[in-house]
Amino acid sequence: MRRGAFLWFLAALGCGARMPSVPARDRNAEGPAPQSLASAVPQSVGVPPQVEPDLRPQTHGADGGAHADVDAHSDADADAEDDTAEHVAADEDPDLFADAEPSPVANTPPPVRVEPPPSTPKTGALALSDAELRRKVFASLAQLGSISVGRPSAGALFNGVQLASGARWKVSDPGNAWGTRETADSIERAIGQVEAHFAGTPPLAIGHLSARRGGSLAPHRSHQSGRDVDLGYYYKTALPFYTRATADNLDTPRTWALVRAFVTETDVEYVFIDTPLQRVLKEHALALGEDAAWLDDIFQAGGTGRAPLIRHVAGHDTHIHVRFFNPIAQELGRRVHPHLVLRGLIQPRSYHTAYRAKKGDTVNRLARRFGVSAAAIQKANRLRTKRLVKGRSYLIPRRGPVTLGSEPTKIPARRVPSHGPSRPVPESPVDAAAKG
Ligand SMILES: [Zn+2]
Repeated sequence: MRRGAFLWFLAALGCGARMPSVPARDRNAEGPAPQSLASAVPQSVGVPPQVEPDLRPQTHGADGGAHADVDAHSDADADAEDDTAEHVAADEDPDLFADAEPSPVANTPPPVRVEPPPSTPKTGALALSDAELRRKVFASLAQLGSISVGRPSAGALFNGVQLASGARWKVSDPGNAWGTRETADSIERAIGQVEAHFAGTPPLAIGHLSARRGGSLAPHRSHQSGRDVDLGYYYKTALPFYTRATADNLDTPRTWALVRAFVTETDVEYVFIDTPLQRVLKEHALALGEDAAWLDDIFQAGGTGRAPLIRHVAGHDTHIHVRFFNPIAQELGRRVHPHLVLRGLIQPRSYHTAYRAKKGDTVNRLARRFGVSAAAIQKANRLRTKRLVKGRSYLIPRRGPVTLGSEPTKIPARRVPSHGPSRPVPESPVDAAAKG
């Protein structure tokens, strides 16, 4: 065992009583599940096992997008812009936090994982050959587990799991709370960590993940491939979902515990949080004695990293948006996409539809109408001019609903701190008020 792994092992031992290190699903197996993920999928691939970490340096460019795996940046910006317009139906239920019983607080710093975890294990469905995958797609698609096809802004979801409300969270729109198994497990794991530190934490509001089969989900541009989730903030008092969080009403210790768990224990691609709230969380983390260099790397606010994980996108003072990498579901999506197309379950990346020209139609008019270039229409129909003949049928090039890369999915190593907080985690202001 290497030194890093050994240190982590020691840390885990030392805090084992308080900090269960088993995957969230295993904990559920020990007793009645406090919250259940609807078992819409007969089988799933589940949490990736611990394998050799990927220690290669991150090569995100200054624009964050040099990497093949991160066509994400432009994507993120595009997605993010649209996210500013989003407004999920807020849960106005005044009883949202009514059951919350504040209780004693764990004052133990969390164990620090000093080794980045694994990516893209070749197990489960990913171990199958292309021929086997094709057979499964046609004969027993459900057995493949969750499949995330394409990008968050141009994608689809197969064999998703539906997040159901439970003791630790409350789903505001169950019909659009579908994600991959990896996404659902990541959410459960991070929220479970908040409870591990702050027993009696009230349920967190959860907004949209994706539609059952993914694809466009108003008012978002992203949330299409089962890898995005909108979550509420933890507040000092019971407030409805989508209440604007401020330095005054934010339950900072709980919210930091949540964000920390997402960054260190799940494969996060982005976390969108407004800058003023980033500052509040970062200041809190610094006061705890968290690794300052790590904080500068992950936070955009006052940070020095070239590719911060926690980014400002306007509008994210009412909710947190988390986008996960799914080492299994994403790679599976890339590999089975051609077979899904063959089976007719999804449109190809590009295809043609026929259009019969009406009086007055020109290439330019059709280009505007179908959102493709005039040149593409001319090329598809071998036209030298932009004139069309009324009554004649023309091919219109269309783009399919998903965009996906041809290279194997690469998941960046998790960014973990070099050490845990040096000071005890203070109790949440909610709990302090309840005692006082
Ligand atoms: Zn969102």
